[in-house]
Amino acid sequence: MLTGFKNAVEVDFTLEENKKKIEEAFKQAHAEAGAVYPLIIGGKKVETEKKIASVSPATKEVLGYACSCSKEQADEAIKASYEAFKKWSLTSVEERVRVLRRLAALLIENRFIMDAWNVLESGKNWGEADGELCEQLDFINSYVMHIQNLEKGKELVPTDELTKCVYIPIGVGVAVSPWNFPLSLFGGMIVSAVVTGNTICCKPSSDAPIVAYKFVELCQKAGIPADVVSYIPGSGSEIGDFIVEHPLTRFVNFTGSKAVGCRINEHAAKIADGQRWIKRVVAEMGGKNAIIVDSTADIKKAANGVASSAFTFQGQKCSACSRAIVLADVYDEFVDEVVKCAAELKANQGSGESNATMGPVINQGAYNSITNYIEIGRKEGNVVFGGTYSDAEGYYIDPTVIRDIKRDARIANEEIFGPVLAVIKVDSFDEALDVANQTEYGLTGSVYSETRENIQRAKVEFQVGNLYFNRKSTAAVVLQHPFGGFNMSGTDAKTGTADYLTNFMNLKSITEDL
Ligand code: GLU
Repeated sequence: MLTGFKNAVEVDFTLEENKKKIEEAFKQAHAEAGAVYPLIIGGKKVETEKKIASVSPATKEVLGYACSCSKEQADEAIKASYEAFKKWSLTSVEERVRVLRRLAALLIENRFIMDAWNVLESGKNWGEADGELCEQLDFINSYVMHIQNLEKGKELVPTDELTKCVYIPIGVGVAVSPWNFPLSLFGGMIVSAVVTGNTICCKPSSDAPIVAYKFVELCQKAGIPADVVSYIPGSGSEIGDFIVEHPLTRFVNFTGSKAVGCRINEHAAKIADGQRWIKRVVAEMGGKNAIIVDSTADIKKAANGVASSAFTFQGQKCSACSRAIVLADVYDEFVDEVVKCAAELKANQGSGESNATMGPVINQGAYNSITNYIEIGRKEGNVVFGGTYSDAEGYYIDPTVIRDIKRDARIANEEIFGPVLAVIKVDSFDEALDVANQTEYGLTGSVYSETRENIQRAKVEFQVGNLYFNRKSTAAVVLQHPFGGFNMSGTDAKTGTADYLTNFMNLKSITEDL
């Protein structure tokens, strides 16, 4: 049991003083509208001609411009990181811990402005943004705790020789992070690299580059040497393969789609001229997560959990539920209940800034793709709630429940990454497990049941990295529910754990004859 570790606690936005603070932070962020955020290459700020507009998904307004990194600049950044590694890798664990603890303190000091930027760029609401900030604090605090244990090295048997086995840093990492958790997934990749003595070039998502920039600024302020973390937003098609294939890149840390993750894995496997190692790839990819509801489940509770997993943050979490697999005798009752929950969520739809329960989806591309799946779903089943959408002001899609979906339907197998739930009817718990396991993914899953035998079977047979019972499938908490998926959902590197950090270190066995 890890009794010494405490998870960060979210801000209570029902308190007037906190509400005021975040509203003030929104004003401050809006006052910065249209600002240009430079690249940070080896500690130098570099402005570029080509820009990436960060657009509010709620209003389509431009929030600011990130500079767009070219191949030449990416090359410069990786080379600068390689130079910086020579020094940073020799820095004591004590010093790494010191600056990271300072970073945690700065994050708390700046939490309202960080939350505000996150809300504006990603479209999530206040609580969701602050939950993410807490996750980032938990990542920092857990990695700081783990590195101090890992520093002791591996326990060995006593011999006549002087022996030890120590963890050492490995080199320059490349981080490619998504827009859905633009602070904690971006920041987690930085902190795990920095704490292990590595240097890192980060390419944040083009949909949320400002909150990432603000985080890198805090890293510098905390005392992480400016050349240890480079900030290189850019177009994936321009610099994506280049940074992965670069001979000086030692590891790649990625979260995003299956297509990009598989591409990264393939390109990282190629040995470039002058490359002296096999690259490590940590990838967290998609999901087609299922929740099973059996005949003995508390149906109201199950409907609530499914709706929350499927529709909060507009279904844009890798952990989101997109398939409810329900036993025939409770199917109609479940559908009625889940529709009620969806209606409640829809009743409070609006911008993240207004702290609505449900907000917009991230951009036009996502809007087009999700609404296209709704149209496919309309042919594959019966839309019993939602199915309506508008991109007149922002990218708004109503929570959508589609019943009578067959197990081989497209919307029962393809990742949608939006607020669309396919409800599938099954005749037995065997069939439920079979349908749950039928996709190529294996990220999260949940079972609502009061039958011990079914619960025990699912513990063994439901093939996912994060399995839950009688609760939703989202909102994993650091060191309570180590997060990471199987199969095409990723490399199962569980964030927040000591195992995660060992992906970025070598073990060196040292023996001296006495
Ligand atoms: N860890 C988050 C959760 O449990 C999901 C992270 C992701 O979408 O990548 O909900």
